[in-house]
Amino acid sequence: MSNQYTPNDIITVFIEHNNNEINQVGYELIGKARELAAKNNMKVFAVLALGARNENDELDLELLEHLVDHIDIYKYNDCLNLNVLDYCDCLKSNIYENKPIIVLVGATPIGRSFAPRVAAHFKTGITADCTGLEFSEEKEFIQIRPAYGGDVYARIVTPKSFPQMATVRPKIMEMPQYRNNNKASIKVYGYRKSNNEISILKKERLEEVGEKIEDAKIIALAGNAIKYKYDLDIIKKLAKLLHGEWAATRPLVEGGLASYDRQVGISGKTIRPDLVIACGVSGTSQTLSGIEKAKKIVAVNIDKNAPIFKNADIGIISDWKQVVEELINKISYKDAAAFKKSIYLDSI
Ligand SMILES: Cc1cc2nc3c(=O)[nH]c(=O)nc-3n(C[C@H](O)[C@H](O)[C@H](O)COP(=O)(O)OP(=O)(O)OC[C@H]3O[C@@H](n4cnc5c(N)ncnc54)[C@H](O)[C@@H]3O)c2cc1C
Repeated sequence: MSNQYTPNDIITVFIEHNNNEINQVGYELIGKARELAAKNNMKVFAVLALGARNENDELDLELLEHLVDHIDIYKYNDCLNLNVLDYCDCLKSNIYENKPIIVLVGATPIGRSFAPRVAAHFKTGITADCTGLEFSEEKEFIQIRPAYGGDVYARIVTPKSFPQMATVRPKIMEMPQYRNNNKASIKVYGYRKSNNEISILKKERLEEVGEKIEDAKIIALAGNAIKYKYDLDIIKKLAKLLHGEWAATRPLVEGGLASYDRQVGISGKTIRPDLVIACGVSGTSQTLSGIEKAKKIVAVNIDKNAPIFKNADIGIISDWKQVVEELINKISYKDAAAFKKSIYLDSI
């Protein structure tokens, strides 16, 4: 059913920012939007919401200005911290203003919370966690995402409802190569916070906050062979010695050993580190879709037929604990930086 919306040839990308820095997924989405726009002579617009700022706060828009055709900024001077309903309000308003044909939002915790509300408001569809976006020969916007646990890729079209909305997880799309010599036009809207009371239960964090796994260069990945906390501590120790982070497959998250923000895979995060050391991971398509973009994968598994070996640059058929403890001993003897260099730059 059509939602009475006559779209313009605009792809709108919602730009998230934290601590005065634009979240990288925004740039990744713009990269994809530019590619799509070039094929159909469309414009790329960015929209962002700013809370009231302190004197020294400055969001650097320089790069953004050379990537898109136009930027809409919604400035909330009456409030410092915005919530998902504020993002929802400003994107809704922007859609009414510009009537874009496509809207892209990063599948971050914030994006996942507010984008579906916007889609529901416009009675349009939204495809979550897309891994590909393209136009068909008939110029239909195809949103590609894994389905049935990653065994097939669904190609989804919403030809009659607008805007066509999709979320994409960080690190799925490439950073944009395109740079426009001319700067984007900017329009600033003074915006007032609507009285949108939202109750968010503050939960205590169960574990120490480390670097985000998406940003780490080295990941020690714990698979289902790791059953106990004291075993997981060995994986954590390896990650720490290599100045990396640890991540987990879904069974560990379901079993309560790891929190969801450490899960890699189709229903977790996609990472692109230099090195993944996969310990006791079988290598299902669901896990692989989260780690296959790593530069190198080292896999340790006792089963020589484990599928992970087909995707690994180095495969070690052995008990994970024996290998990891050996590694930890070696690193403890050597200077960790030198070891890191030798393990993943020289010998792989
Ligand atoms: C809709 C859906 C979404 C999903 N999303 C995800 C997701 O995002 N991420 C994800 O990871 N999974 C996901 N899964 C789950 C997925 O199907 C698998 O269950 C999971 O990937 C298996 O994780 P694993 O490889 O750690 O465990 P297993 O498959 O149980 O493999 C454990 C491996 O450890 C090896 N092993 C055992 N003991 C040792 C030892 N001592 N030393 C060395 N190796 C040893 C075994 O040989 C085995 O290969 C999803 C499933 C569904 C249906």
